[in-house]
Amino acid sequence: MSRIAFIGLGIMGSPMAANLVKAGHTVTGFNLTQPPIDKLVADGGRAAGSIAEAVADAEVVITMVPADPQVEQVILGEGGVLENAKPGTLVIDMSSITPQTSIKVAEAAAAKGVRTLDAPVSGGEAGAIEAVLSIMVGGAAADFAEAKPLFDVLGTTVIHVGPAGAGQTVKAANQLIVAVNIQVVAEAVVFLENAGVDLPAALDVLAGGLAGSTVLNRKKANMVDRQFAPGFRIDLHHKDMGIVTAAARAVEAPLPVGSLVAQLVASARANGDGSLDHSALLRGVERLAGRKVN
Ligand code: NAD
Repeated sequence: MSRIAFIGLGIMGSPMAANLVKAGHTVTGFNLTQPPIDKLVADGGRAAGSIAEAVADAEVVITMVPADPQVEQVILGEGGVLENAKPGTLVIDMSSITPQTSIKVAEAAAAKGVRTLDAPVSGGEAGAIEAVLSIMVGGAAADFAEAKPLFDVLGTTVIHVGPAGAGQTVKAANQLIVAVNIQVVAEAVVFLENAGVDLPAALDVLAGGLAGSTVLNRKKANMVDRQFAPGFRIDLHHKDMGIVTAAARAVEAPLPVGSLVAQLVASARANGDGSLDHSALLRGVERLAGRKVN
């Protein structure tokens, strides 16, 4: 059993930390706001008042924060993880960020004798709660092997995909596929409604054929009921579309459809939908179809 510091107890981090506690690990949590820390304590974890306090006694540090600036601040910044971690500590960043920042973090950590893995996840809030995440891991093979039992507590598909930054590259591809899939399911929903077809029945039969997908299974109820509480916020998917378009450009991979969907995600934000679940891309399709969207 490991002593784990868990920094960033949001939609994803909170259930992930709870699952590590359930598996018998000692988990000390820190977050910008207090309620998720109190929840971790109620679940059997421990509270920290700062990153320094969380990390002081930790063998493993897990970070799960929104984006590059927060990862840089939490790991590299003043009072951050690298200032406080003992040499030999394994720092696992599970946030979705650019591969370049993961490499920068890995280099800064190595200079202090601290080991790192980038281990972004897919599967959403439900996947975090049910401990069925897909986890794509970049870093040294030996560090991956050491962390594998922890990953197995959090997910069911856990794969080492290459050196530092590689996990983030795979996650960027994941976000490309998910965004395009959601957009096209949303387009099908508006088409089916305009055509007067029974929508739930139509989506059920589509889910069983080649059009079926995890996106369709997980998001069809949100779309039918117009329930867009996150889940995964459009603001975060906008960040991820920026990551994948920049990363693809750097390796001269064209993303014609992905680039279009990136613009539609940006439009959703511009229309005030940034804090809604990404299934709310449906609202953008409805606007295009001339519907009044409240
Ligand atoms: P969230 O906004 O719900 O949670 C982020 C948490 O980090 C918040 O609780 C916030 O207080 C905390 N935080 C921010 N800055 C901090 C700091 N300096 N110190 C300590 N805590 C800090 O976000 P989320 O949905 O949990 O997503 C986290 C990461 O996981 C993102 O990179 C996101 O892209 C990725 N992700 C999310 C989902 C999803 O479905 N929500 C799925 C896969 C991946």
